[in-house]
Amino acid sequence: MKQYDYLIVGSGLFGATFAYRAKKAGKKCLVIDKRQHLGGNVYCESIEGINVHKYGAHIFHTSNLQVWEFVNSIVPFNRYTNSPVANFQGRLFNLPFNMNTFYQMWGVITPDEAQAKIDEQRQEALHAMQSAGVNEPRNLEEQALLLIGRDIYETLIKGYTEKQWGRKCTDLPAFIIKRLPVRFVFDNNYFNDKYQGIPIGGYNRLIDGLLEGIETKVNTDFFADRNHWESIADRIVFTGKIDEFYDYRFGHLNYRTVRFEQQTLDTPNYQGNAVVNYTESSVPYTRIIEHKHFEQFGTEVYDNPKTVISREYSTEWQDGMEPYYPVNDTANNALAEKYRQLAAAESNVIFGGRLAEYRYYDMAPIIEKVLNIQI
Ligand code: FAD
Ligand code: UDP
Repeated sequence: MKQYDYLIVGSGLFGATFAYRAKKAGKKCLVIDKRQHLGGNVYCESIEGINVHKYGAHIFHTSNLQVWEFVNSIVPFNRYTNSPVANFQGRLFNLPFNMNTFYQMWGVITPDEAQAKIDEQRQEALHAMQSAGVNEPRNLEEQALLLIGRDIYETLIKGYTEKQWGRKCTDLPAFIIKRLPVRFVFDNNYFNDKYQGIPIGGYNRLIDGLLEGIETKVNTDFFADRNHWESIADRIVFTGKIDEFYDYRFGHLNYRTVRFEQQTLDTPNYQGNAVVNYTESSVPYTRIIEHKHFEQFGTEVYDNPKTVISREYSTEWQDGMEPYYPVNDTANNALAEKYRQLAAAESNVIFGGRLAEYRYYDMAPIIEKVLNIQI
């Protein structure tokens, strides 16, 4: 009989939700994290009374009622609705692409006029592909031109996407852009999901609620004393990097990462919105986040005379940096698959979350996965 039923490596949403459920099932858990705080990438730091999303802006969104009710049972969520604005050479456009955007781009007033404008541009893209003898879009640029046309592609997509991925749109897979909704209504809500919001009081409340009454240790790296950690629990839940778990025996997986440049400003309202994307290539950052707008609405924004902003610079990942986005190319996917096969054969280790599965997951699917695990 070992000291713990579960050793949980990583206190992000996967590990914390697992610990919560395991405790409810009467299991004894220890959660360790190599960072100096709990919560993984949803962790926020309070600066000037503002919850600053230290690892990038996090907006919870889902259409799954069970997931929504679960997170709200831990901490109620607010009514934040993500409506990013794009800045291209000083002109502002609403996102996602909707009637407001089409009006700002072309001055079109009705959905029929907008549709006609987009159709005209799509036809051009189609003809260009046909004369090149191509049936399916071969890359992100062709996909975007077919979906929305040249004006929007060149103003709102090309620069942003090339900065985000560090590669030309002609070298990126088409599927990345399929996620962007196109709407012929005046609706700036970025997500199509039924529910969205931010935990009232910030994400740390969610993590604290999930981990309440559970033993935790921060500044504790599983690999610094692997034999010890493996000896103290019947089973391990591992949410760190899968290639590291196997000592990189097949090679290193790649990631994209983000560098944040954070500033506290003596102004109550810097940009009037939580998210402003900079879509031209000459601006080196992809977007500016103004954190207070996630939790303060309307005139509440002026209750605090200061604000905190973060400029996001998308960069190539190197060892020692935070691994954020799995790279979805053939080589990395094939390598990840080899590691996943090893993982599938383990009887006492559950691999879960973004790093252990090497898959980009939003928060809600992570929770959904954990709610469905047999504990
Ligand atoms: P993580 O949060 O990364 O947690 C893993 C934990 O394991 C970390 O705390 C790490 O320190 C710890 N760990 C790793 N290795 C070890 C080790 N060897 N020993 C001990 N501890 C270890 N999702 C949304 O739904 N909406 C959004 O708006 C959104 N925005 C995002 C923006 C960015 C920039 C990023 C990167 C992600 C975003 N996500 C968003 C996704 C969201 O962050 C993830 O779904 C979620 O954080 C995944 O949780 P996790 O537990 O798998 O991983
Ligand atoms: N995108 C874009 N312009 C924008 C916002 C997004 O071209 O202003 C594209 C870009 O290719 C990006 C993709 O849409 O990679 C998905 O963006 P989203 O913000 O939905 O995803 P995330 O950054 O959260 O993965």
